[in-house]
Amino acid sequence: MPDIAFWNQCNNRCVMCTNEDAFARHDPSLYGLKSQVGKLERYLGGQGGVYFKNDDKPGFVSLTGGEPTLHPDFFRLLAYFRRRLPGAGITLLSNGRTFADGAFTKRFLKIAAPPFSVAVPLHAASAALHDKVAGVKGAFGQTMAGLENLFAGGGAVGLEIRLVLHRLNIKALPKILACLLEKFPDTARYRVTAIHYEIEGMSLKNHRRLALRLKESASALGGALPLIKKFKDLRLYHFPRCAVRRELRPLCRVTLPPEDRVYTAKCAGCAARRGCLGLMAEYYKAFGDGELRRL
Ligand code: SF4
Repeated sequence: MPDIAFWNQCNNRCVMCTNEDAFARHDPSLYGLKSQVGKLERYLGGQGGVYFKNDDKPGFVSLTGGEPTLHPDFFRLLAYFRRRLPGAGITLLSNGRTFADGAFTKRFLKIAAPPFSVAVPLHAASAALHDKVAGVKGAFGQTMAGLENLFAGGGAVGLEIRLVLHRLNIKALPKILACLLEKFPDTARYRVTAIHYEIEGMSLKNHRRLALRLKESASALGGALPLIKKFKDLRLYHFPRCAVRRELRPLCRVTLPPEDRVYTAKCAGCAARRGCLGLMAEYYKAFGDGELRRL
């Protein structure tokens, strides 16, 4: 099932956001309750091409934005998606700030019946850096408070904390992992995903500030291995297997559709190709395949 753009407005201005800035200028009625219901009913009725991304993938839905929790009919629409997609895994991608409101979180947890998870990006272990990446002062405090409220929900929904790695925050990786271990020590209760940033939308526009090669992020991951081992479920997205240390290869996942990935001549005959993401197509355009090596 598809990625569904739940709402196009956001209260963060993340430097590495993959949305174009024009997305926020779309007519909000395109994402209103009536429009969303019409789209999902057409999709469930078998009409193809309703959603832009992963329209043909069965079994799960990602509710994305903008920031979905800012939708003026958030709870009604969430209840509708849950009711009309029984049994489908739903992941809500959120900057987590709205969940700083405890009453909002309690109401959300009553509606978000399993299988349901919330994925929240954490950009740093300090307000100064997180807010710099998020583009909003105070974002860090609200996101951390939101995570605490979601954790206090006692496992009603799955939790995933996303670390999108780029030039601005790569050096902070060990601090972020240590911060998570300190604040949320029961690592069986959540998943961490470390993601090499995508070069798309605002991230492409801001690429001079963000540019980071895989070998640099892989090196930071390798250096953080003792911390990484302390997490029960830590996954790596957007990394080719040959770019990371042997011990980290089992953590690599293929999460992008084939059209967004590239295998180059260096991959021919590679023993690790099955289950390897290859290179992100936009990464290959920007940096080439010099970091790949056949395994
Ligand atoms: S050479 Fe290609 S297939 Fe092999 S691990 Fe690297 S990216 Fe993957």
